[in-house]
Amino acid sequence: MSASPEIVCPACGRDALLLRQPRYDGFTKVGETLSCASCGHVFESEADVQFVSRKKVEVFTTADRSKDVKVFGEGENRRLCRYCAHYVVNPFMQWCALHKKEVQATDTCSQFTPKPPEKKAIL
Ligand SMILES: [Zn+2]
Repeated sequence: MSASPEIVCPACGRDALLLRQPRYDGFTKVGETLSCASCGHVFESEADVQFVSRKKVEVFTTADRSKDVKVFGEGENRRLCRYCAHYVVNPFMQWCALHKKEVQATDTCSQFTPKPPEKKAIL
């Protein structure tokens, strides 16, 4: 959370910063006064504040990151055991069904067989 979140002010209709000022009853903080930094409009409660949505931006950022990871994994990782049709994973070990031996997900194999796409959903 930013210290000065951006809002769309219903009073002045502008993108503005939200001002938060602590409200005190004596020495006890009883709440915050939320107001528009642009025109001074005071909001009844935080529920009335229309924040400029940053969440969508974050979602896109996350999606972009995972895409980057996939692109990074494309070439080299293509031959890794974890992407191989013979690779079997269970709670106790990772197993190569072709060589009948324990493997690591990051092992590479000359007899790599691409896993059918539908099995990716399990991972
Ligand atoms: Zn305003």
